Amino acid sequence: MKFCINCDAPVSGKYCHECGQKTNIKRLDFKGLTEEISYFFTHIEKGFLRTSKEFIIHPGVTSLNYLKGKRKNYQKPVSYFLIWVGLYILVHNMIINRFHYEYILSAADQIPRHAEANLFLRKHFSLFLLPLLIVSAISVWLVLARPRFYFIEIVVLMLYGGGTYFMMTLASDIVLGVLLRININHYHVFLWQTILSALYNAWFTYDFFRRSPPRYFWLRMILVALLVSVSGLLLMEYLPLAWLNIFP
Ligand SMILES: [Zn+2]
Repeated sequence: MKFCINCDAPVSGKYCHECGQKTNIKRLDFKGLTEEISYFFTHIEKGFLRTSKEFIIHPGVTSLNYLKGKRKNYQKPVSYFLIWVGLYILVHNMIINRFHYEYILSAADQIPRHAEANLFLRKHFSLFLLPLLIVSAISVWLVLARPRFYFIEIVVLMLYGGGTYFMMTLASDIVLGVLLRININHYHVFLWQTILSALYNAWFTYDFFRRSPPRYFWLRMILVALLVSVSGLLLMEYLPLAWLNIFP
């Protein structure tokens, strides 16, 4: 009879059925360390790339599968979101420093206090995306998903959607800022990113619900689009102002 070195449960086969540790644990040596390093990179890469690809091509099916429990091959939602946000911030700042892109505001945003708030929003956009995602999750849940899905399930899908959005914005920054040498801090580019986000959001939501749509599906889709746009605009307008008033 063999026992698990980690939890002392009796074991047979390759893995402990109580804690999941391998049963053939050896002393740590150089070979073990290199195996672990290569395992880490090949596996994070596979799961991460697969998740990124699937959430662009068919976000709906992928989401439904994930919620039903097909999870092993996917990057977990929080780390997926954080990795893409981190990569985006890193590369975005590298590009604007390398090509010296200045912030260009639209004429409507030139009112002094307003301009300051708008600049703050644009410089720290990734910070404001989280409240935007939560508000979108509330809208989608109230109008389309309730009562079939939990609110938290919709929040998890928003993390995947948000992460994927940062990946697309990153790609857009590279194409526009590096290849075409367009100022990615111009308000036109900000507008284009907003349109991109609306399109991806609509595609994600449609692809998720089209297989078993609720009654009045299109009416609900339009209502969600309106709710998300209006609450998004209000948040982007007043959240930076509020922040600057609290922390002047
Ligand atoms: Zn064990």
